[in-house]
Amino acid sequence: MKQDILDKSPEEITDILKQIGEPSFRGKQLLNWLYRGTKSFEDMTNLPKHTRIKLKERYMIGRVKQIKKMTSDNSDTIKYLCLLHDSNIIECVVMRYDYGNTLCLSTQVGCRMGCSFCESTRQGLIRNLEVGEMVGQVLMVNADLGEAEKRNIRNVVLMGSGEPLDNYDNVVKFLNLIHDPNTLNISFRNITLSTCGLVPRMRELADMDMPITLAVSLHAPNDESRRRIMPVASAYSVREVVEAAKYYFERTGRRVSFEYSLMEGVNDGVEQAEELGRLLEDFPCHVNIIPINTIEGAPYRRSPEVRIQLFEKSLRSAGIQVTRRRELGHEIGGACGQLKRGYVDTLQR
Ligand code: SAH
Repeated sequence: MKQDILDKSPEEITDILKQIGEPSFRGKQLLNWLYRGTKSFEDMTNLPKHTRIKLKERYMIGRVKQIKKMTSDNSDTIKYLCLLHDSNIIECVVMRYDYGNTLCLSTQVGCRMGCSFCESTRQGLIRNLEVGEMVGQVLMVNADLGEAEKRNIRNVVLMGSGEPLDNYDNVVKFLNLIHDPNTLNISFRNITLSTCGLVPRMRELADMDMPITLAVSLHAPNDESRRRIMPVASAYSVREVVEAAKYYFERTGRRVSFEYSLMEGVNDGVEQAEELGRLLEDFPCHVNIIPINTIEGAPYRRSPEVRIQLFEKSLRSAGIQVTRRRELGHEIGGACGQLKRGYVDTLQR
């Protein structure tokens, strides 16, 4: 099978062209076509014909195909189902905010982290996504939104299915790739990576000189309660996770946000808010609270509004910066934790 040219970094693209005997400025030309959404080498009219033929012999452009699109009632959220070359299906979601469009994309087919409240991990990890399959999600959505209307993606969040730090090399390459001025030129500040807390990888990321926003899924203020809902908590303690987040802040100057999904009677008590407040004391960070999205077969219930507000209030009075995540896309199954590798399921939906 031909390789996907979208797997390649700008440097690799330049090398590929060099091997065909082309000067390096051709690299920029090729990137320009690719990232403007051109789907065929033949259409790249400023490249010599023999070059286009050689490229076509060896490469294909993009392996992510849109097979279904669901738009929320108020059009704020669009969920896409995408077919991959091996028949796996992934999902990504566009959220429309006043400041621009944000794409929430997947980094793996499935996930092996096993969080008990999350749909994406139900069937375990199927496989990592290739770089070109992450790029492909952005380009597919850009094509769909239409460049003419200037609605293309300027913000990317790695919060779809998968644990981004479990597909570390591909994710880092992908982020550097979309950041490149010759591709999509997406600012690191407009990129958020969410992790369940793979401590050594968080530290590695901090040292990469890539000042993206780090979001850490904490969901509990201590090891005991975190272990009940997140298997990863047995590998790394809450302390270690918070220490790694502090290290990330020191190295990058980027404020870390902690995600905290509220489940009634599990982690939503005022005592837990107070404990969280103590844990994050003196650390300039952000807590993002998300009322849990119920998923089939999991025992968790959404906290009643009063409990959510009490939780938020007690965190605030501990001096913590809190935001409540805007809830988008429920009715299309596009809300946090609702994305799944659902080859069979999604086709039945
Ligand atoms: N693997 C990464 C990205 C996953 S999804 C991580 O763990 O951070 C993004 C966020 O949605 C995570 O904070 C995840 O814990 C949360 N989430 C998963 N299932 C959820 C659900 N049913 N309701 C609310 N949030 C959920």
